[in-house]
Amino acid sequence: MTEGALTPPTRCGFVALIGAPNVGKSTLLNALVGSKVTIVSHKVQTTRSLIRGIAIEGAAQLVFVDTPGIFRPKRRLDRAMVTSAWSGAHDADLVGVLIDARKGIDEEAEAILTKLAGLRRPALLVINKVDLVEKTALLALARAANARSTFAATFMISALNGDGVGDVKAWLAHHVAPGPWLYPADQISDAPMRSLAAEITREKLYARLHQELPYQSTVETETWTERPDGSVRIEQTIYVERESQRKIVLGKGGQTIKAIGTDARRELAAVIEAPVHLSLFVKVREGWGDDPERYRQMGLEFHKE
Ligand code: GDP
Ligand code: MG
Repeated sequence: MTEGALTPPTRCGFVALIGAPNVGKSTLLNALVGSKVTIVSHKVQTTRSLIRGIAIEGAAQLVFVDTPGIFRPKRRLDRAMVTSAWSGAHDADLVGVLIDARKGIDEEAEAILTKLAGLRRPALLVINKVDLVEKTALLALARAANARSTFAATFMISALNGDGVGDVKAWLAHHVAPGPWLYPADQISDAPMRSLAAEITREKLYARLHQELPYQSTVETETWTERPDGSVRIEQTIYVERESQRKIVLGKGGQTIKAIGTDARRELAAVIEAPVHLSLFVKVREGWGDDPERYRQMGLEFHKE
């Protein structure tokens, strides 16, 4: 007698979502996983490290790698992020390539499609934001993209309202390889809670200050203490590059930092499902964009040039 002979064979695989910044990768990931695991923002390029979300579809477990946006790198930090994005795709079994239906095949999309052949992974084309365009334009876009690269399938979706997301999930579940699940069924993210907490605060920071702040601002969780009463005490530091930015983050009489703290604490408490005591500090750290140690902490490669 073999145990589990009556249960269908499990499947499991890694899936990378790649695409230009703001194409909707994080939104799609959240829609696929059904729980908030990564940060959605109007500000380009807030996803800095690879974060996994896990979805279960029937007997299949899909482990998603959310990548930073792929774009034309100018600064060193940009280059490190793009390298990280492509290596995320290389680590995956299947790759979902997102294209913004409204933008079509612009310069950024073109660059991604060109580089895709080198991946040697089955890729599916996901045309996102179909809610924003006329249906007639979609067919031409799908044809043009398929003419530039080989896709195993093409989907037209709205990650935002969920249209077509179920079809993408079903396709992925069908195409990952047979094998044991890599994570317990109830796990939605293996991102350490500390880094998730830092991402939440960073999202609130950008939501309030996206006009004024450069991307270089980061948030680090310094301490994470679970108290006997079940609450969690979290201390975080927001790093900015200049004193002038520190003043912006603090706001008049500390109003801005207080509001950011309130936003972040509320969401942290919801995610952790426990009361949260959050303390935020703002520090200036000049030139960290050239510090190899920062890159290592973010899981990025440091390029000497
Ligand atoms: P990422 O940079 O690729 O991770 O993009 P995000 O997921 O952060 O999304 C960027 C912006 O596009 C956000 O404002 C989303 O709400 C928006 N967005 C994502 N998917 C859709 C969609 O299907 N339709 C519309 N209208 N907006 C979308
Ligand atoms: Mg993102």
